[in-house]
Amino acid sequence: MKKVRTRFAPSPTGYMHIGNLRTALFTYLIAKQNDGDFILRIEDTDRERYVEGAVDVIYNTLRQCGLNWDEGPDVGGPVGPYIQSERMGMFKKYAEELVEKGEAYYCFCDKERLDGLKAECEAQGKTYSYDRHCRDLSKDEIKARLDAGTPYVIRQKMPLEGSVTFHDELYGDITVECSELEDQILIKTDGMPTYNFANVVDDHLMGITHVVRGNEYLSSAPKYELLYKAFGWEVPTYIHVEHIMKDKQHKLSKRDGDASFEDLINKGYLTEAVVNYIALLGWAPKGEEEIFTLDELIKEFDIQGLSKSPAIFDPLKLKAINAKYIKKLTPEEFEKYATPYIRQTVKRDTDISRICSLLQDRTEVFTDIPEKVDFLDELREYDKALYFNKKNKIDEEKSLKSLKDILPVMEGIDEADWTEENIHDRLFELIAAKEVKNALILLPLRVAVSGKASTPGGGIEISYLIGRQDTLDRIAKGIELLSK
Ligand code: GLU
Repeated sequence: MKKVRTRFAPSPTGYMHIGNLRTALFTYLIAKQNDGDFILRIEDTDRERYVEGAVDVIYNTLRQCGLNWDEGPDVGGPVGPYIQSERMGMFKKYAEELVEKGEAYYCFCDKERLDGLKAECEAQGKTYSYDRHCRDLSKDEIKARLDAGTPYVIRQKMPLEGSVTFHDELYGDITVECSELEDQILIKTDGMPTYNFANVVDDHLMGITHVVRGNEYLSSAPKYELLYKAFGWEVPTYIHVEHIMKDKQHKLSKRDGDASFEDLINKGYLTEAVVNYIALLGWAPKGEEEIFTLDELIKEFDIQGLSKSPAIFDPLKLKAINAKYIKKLTPEEFEKYATPYIRQTVKRDTDISRICSLLQDRTEVFTDIPEKVDFLDELREYDKALYFNKKNKIDEEKSLKSLKDILPVMEGIDEADWTEENIHDRLFELIAAKEVKNALILLPLRVAVSGKASTPGGGIEISYLIGRQDTLDRIAKGIELLSK
């Protein structure tokens, strides 16, 4: 069997759209599950769209996601160069080969003539298509014009009748009437290839066996098929994947700040979670399990599981998956990721590791963290209704009584003994002495020291984290509020 070789062929646009990253991932998975090669080819021939540093965004994103390429611009390989703009001189001879074979022709129509044609079509309400004016020029005529240095393009000679059928792994056989296909330009006046031509020739020269691409290319596929046939080359397996949508009507767009890999990382998602999630966009695993590492995806992924309907980007699902990945982090890893987010709102000198251990199980995305711990530095004004707890039958009056009992207990612990263990033990002595339920002491304490009804950690942990003086001040404030 032929060695599987797949390629990711991004155009450097300056950011990595989630859809492109998914294409890269699927392409990578197909290569790796077949012990094949994954190739990176940069399609940078559209100089108008060229963005400085954009190639680095591609390198960095792929590496960060673990999608390491076997051949590519920076690592080299046997079929380079891997940057399309460095290959530009290679294409003309292939187009000339097609001219020899009668599968392509020189077209000398100048801009004026073509503009005229376009205007005519427009006036008649027709879509413009080149009228094949130069398709049947005589050999002598062609020679004379070439000798005279008349500028020309090379066009593909589409069959005038019949149909062309191409196969897509997902969509099956698709048949198109040849008469609908324009004699497309392969080589432009400047001798450079058009995008479609370069793409086909490059895939062939690089020995690509599988092409995964967005289905916006589906309509060009018949032309590709005819090109391969004209050359007598083997057609790779094509897999056109559906778009990723924000909702039923709208595509994910860069403008909304939700379309790129970087956007998601900036929003506090873990790389592994993003990779896992995008694998599920348009692909359904066989079983119930949806959490897969990259290595597991290599084993699980199969083309049959791909969907023909657009995938809807579901932020809640991404969040849920991210939470699972966060839970799996070691405490050290979690601390490394979480600390900058904690430090956005917590500037005080405190036990960051302890905050992390309280947060890890209740963090879905890192960007939720600053707001969750903001009370550690500063107690904001809060409503005394927070002390009311129906389930535990605690009201404001009982809370006031509890805080009055707690205050002297806390005062009794010296600064030097201010540990979580000591606070815990003294409060439980109080609970035992008063013969009350834990909640009656601990819930009012939590509200008093945090000003919130729900916090990472309870009253004991928070008291420890904010220190003795702040704890006493905040309890006193609670007493004052409840005495009003
Ligand atoms: N350079 C194209 C893009 O970024 C890729 C087309 C293909 O994969 O064939 O959309």
